[in-house]
Amino acid sequence: MAKEKKLVESITSMEEDFAQWYTDVVKKAELTDYTSVKGCMVIKPAGYAIWENIQHELDRRFKETGVENVYLPMLIPESLLQKEKDHVEGFAPEVAWVTHGGLEPLQERMCVRPTSETLFCDFYANDIHSYRDLPKVYNQWCSVMRWEKTTRPFLRSREFLWQEGHTAHATAEEAEARTIQMLNVYADFCEEVLAIPVVKGRKTDKEKFAGAEATYTIESLMHDGKALQSGTSHNFGDGFAKAFGIQYTDKDNTLKYVHQTSWGMTTRMIGAIIMVHGDNSGLVLPPRIAPVQAMVIPIQQKKEGVLDKAAEVKEALVKSGIRTRMDDSDKSPGWKFSESEMRGIPVRIELGPKDIEAGQAVIVRRDTREKITVSLEELTGKVTETLEIMQKDMLERARTHRESHTYTAKTLDEFKDIAENKPGFIKAMWCGDQACEDALKEEAGVTSRCIPFQQEEITCECIYCKKPAKAMVYWGKAY
Ligand SMILES: [Zn+2]
Repeated sequence: MAKEKKLVESITSMEEDFAQWYTDVVKKAELTDYTSVKGCMVIKPAGYAIWENIQHELDRRFKETGVENVYLPMLIPESLLQKEKDHVEGFAPEVAWVTHGGLEPLQERMCVRPTSETLFCDFYANDIHSYRDLPKVYNQWCSVMRWEKTTRPFLRSREFLWQEGHTAHATAEEAEARTIQMLNVYADFCEEVLAIPVVKGRKTDKEKFAGAEATYTIESLMHDGKALQSGTSHNFGDGFAKAFGIQYTDKDNTLKYVHQTSWGMTTRMIGAIIMVHGDNSGLVLPPRIAPVQAMVIPIQQKKEGVLDKAAEVKEALVKSGIRTRMDDSDKSPGWKFSESEMRGIPVRIELGPKDIEAGQAVIVRRDTREKITVSLEELTGKVTETLEIMQKDMLERARTHRESHTYTAKTLDEFKDIAENKPGFIKAMWCGDQACEDALKEEAGVTSRCIPFQQEEITCECIYCKKPAKAMVYWGKAY
């Protein structure tokens, strides 16, 4: 019994210390491990399986819009990185350099890709000639490296996994439409699969991607009231095309520059799942992303017939398409319950000799702990239904949490008071001047999260300088 208690006791409660709670969940749910490679992480099977499901769902959605996957080298020659001025300035402080090949110093050093715009541009400059070659709608699944000073599993690590889409189009309108289209793919994915509601909007010039004309973002709110940038989609206009000479011959026989976009989502989303849905017993996974959706736990499994029946139940669930496992290890049922909860498995199915005698089983929901007794004939249908309800409830709960942690500020005093005392999003008006954005960061410790597509007019003047406002902005502290 002492050992069983330990599994749960060793998690810090989120109310006490959210950061420590996060670290505890990541470790206890066996998502990652430390490695001798500083600032990087080992993603363990339970964590990697979540990433595989994210990949699978996103990749399917991408391909439905005509995206094709490619793979480019992981090294970028310095001269290539230098070609677009804003881009190199934005990334220079965090790139890692390769200076030797074997024992020989390289004539030109190369960086490990922090992102692949420059390589795609180099490739497109060779590959695009005519309007018939357009559009190019490519995506790459890979890892990138950014030399971060402080790191945390999933949220900020030097090497992380992601996808980066890079497209080239004949017209500015087409590029803008693709930028928004991919933002919507991300937003739908977050809400439908991860049960994370998002705010869609545009980044201010200060916060936009280095080299982009416009950056669109989806912002989500974590349980502790901090924001997380969850996916971004950039419209590059023809800036990169001009720097790299990506031109095509149009139908009218004139040479024109292409218009480009890029968009990405990363393993950070696993951090988001943990921080939006987790509780003091560990991880809570939305059923649609959970690698294991149901865990069958036999009780008094040494009694004759129990294990056989449990295996039969498991098989029936697997056959009906529910990702199911059975825990027939020699740990006690209490330990198995805690472990299944810690790993965030959406439902567990308890099955003991008395249940078998009565022809029933008990379904326990991870999120609400609700226990549902159901006949074995109806079990599969009931588990499917429970998973669907849980998925919906999790999104609703996250939405309610976000709404109750979104505040409106009409004066600077009000703004500062909220920033200091009420973690969450702050909606306030802005004049469009970066000086006010800088001042709010300096004085209230918040950054602009986005200029939401859904605008409201809270007042007519900027929260900081009182000049006429141009837009309502979401502000907040962010990961
Ligand atoms: Zn202002």
